[in-house]
Amino acid sequence: MPTPQPALDRSATVLVAGSSGLVGSAVLRRLEAEGFTSVVGIHSKDVDLTDAQATLDRITSIRPAVVIDAAARVGGIAANDAEPVEFLNDNLRIQTNLFTAAHAADVDRLLFLGSSCIYPKHSPQPIPESALLTGPLEETNDAYAIAKIAGVLAVRSYRRQYGRRWISAMPTNVYGPGDTFHPTRSHVLPALIRRFHEAVRSGAEEVVVWGSGTPRREFIHVDDLAAACLHLLDHYDDPSPVNIGVGEDLSIADLAALVAEAVGFTGRITWDTARPDGTPRKLLDISRLRATGWEPGIGLPEGVRSTVRWYVDTLAEPCGRADAG
Ligand code: GDP
Repeated sequence: MPTPQPALDRSATVLVAGSSGLVGSAVLRRLEAEGFTSVVGIHSKDVDLTDAQATLDRITSIRPAVVIDAAARVGGIAANDAEPVEFLNDNLRIQTNLFTAAHAADVDRLLFLGSSCIYPKHSPQPIPESALLTGPLEETNDAYAIAKIAGVLAVRSYRRQYGRRWISAMPTNVYGPGDTFHPTRSHVLPALIRRFHEAVRSGAEEVVVWGSGTPRREFIHVDDLAAACLHLLDHYDDPSPVNIGVGEDLSIADLAALVAEAVGFTGRITWDTARPDGTPRKLLDISRLRATGWEPGIGLPEGVRSTVRWYVDTLAEPCGRADAG
C-alpha cells in the first residue's frame, strides 16, 4: 500500500519537463495555484530533450529538488500507428536523458507520467496496476507503450539501485485546454471537437467519426490530472505505478454524441470502419489512487463544454490556427 510522505516543500525548486504541452502547462498552473514559489518549465523549443548532453547541462544548472516528467512525443491512434519508430525512439531518449540528468543532479522526488496504453490489450476491466506485463499490447500503439513501460522499469530501478524516491503515474486518456486539435494526428476528443465545430461553421449535415463507435474510453480533464500529480508527490512513494483516472468510461459513439451536443451540431454522425478501433476498452482501476485520499472533480460533460469554449476562443478563430501544438 502507498506510504504517506511528508508534503513537498512549497519553496523547493520544481522542474516541469514538457511545460508547453497539454499536461505540463496544466501542472505549471496547478503548482502556481498551490503556492510553489520556485518553478521552472522546460520544453522542446527551449532544450532538446532528445539530446543527452543538452538535457544534462540544463538540469544540472537548475538543480531542482523535484522533477515532473510530462515530456513526450504524443499523438492519437493514427499518428502512433503511422510513426512507431519516432514514438519509440524519441520517448526512450527523452525519458532516459531526463532520468540520467535527474540522477546526476541528485533529484530526490521525480514523477514520471506514462499512459494507460502500457497495459495489455485484453486486460481485466477496470485495469489494476498489477496487469502490467501480463499480456500482449494493442498493436496500434505498442511502440509508444514499450517506451513508457521502459520508463516505469527505469523509475523502479533507480529506486531499487540508488534509493531514489521516484514514482510513476499512468493517466487515462487526457483532454482539456492546451490540447492539440489536429484533424488527423490528435486524440479523439480534440479531433471531434474540431470536426464537429467545423461542420457547424460550414453547415455540413454529416460528420464522419473513425472506427465502429463501440470502443470504450475513460477521459480525465487535464486540471484533474495535474492536481492528482501533485497529490501523489505529496502522498505516494511506492515502486508500483499508480493509475490516474476518473473511474467511469463511455463508448466512442456516446462521446461523439456528447461533443456534438456541446458544439451544437444537430446533423448526422456516420462511422468510418476502415479506421482502426484500437483497444476495445480502457478503464483504469483507481482504487490505489483513491486510497491516497484523492478524487476527481471535473465531470465529462462539464469538461467537454469548457474545452469547447477554450477551443472556440483560442484556436478556432481565425481559421487555420487549430493546427498549433
Ligand atoms: P487511443 O485511446 O490510444 O486509441 O487513442 P485515440 O484518442 O486516438 O482514439 C480513441 C478511439 O477513438 C479509437 O477507437 C479511435 O478509432 C476513435 N476515434 C474516432 N474518431 C477519431 C478521430 O477523429 N481521431 C482519433 N484520434 N480517434 C478517433
